[in-house]
Amino acid sequence: MLKQACLLCKIVGAIAIIGALNWGLIAAINLNLVEQVLGAGTTATRVVYGLVGLSGIALLVSYFTVCPACKK
Ligand SMILES: [Zn+2]
Repeated sequence: MLKQACLLCKIVGAIAIIGALNWGLIAAINLNLVEQVLGAGTTATRVVYGLVGLSGIALLVSYFTVCPACKK
């Protein structure tokens, strides 16, 4: 599905994957990689969490409508 996706779909997918993997790491080895790299409670960390949330919303919306860029 992601192979023929447009850049927008790939970016949204990649950010969602980063968020999902981060949660997986928290569960598996109690490591929050985003906070490890960007610092806990920093603006950069907030931005990443915000982007993960936005990509979650974008993926949710994509179940009901097509991508405006690639029409998939
Ligand atoms: Zn697309």
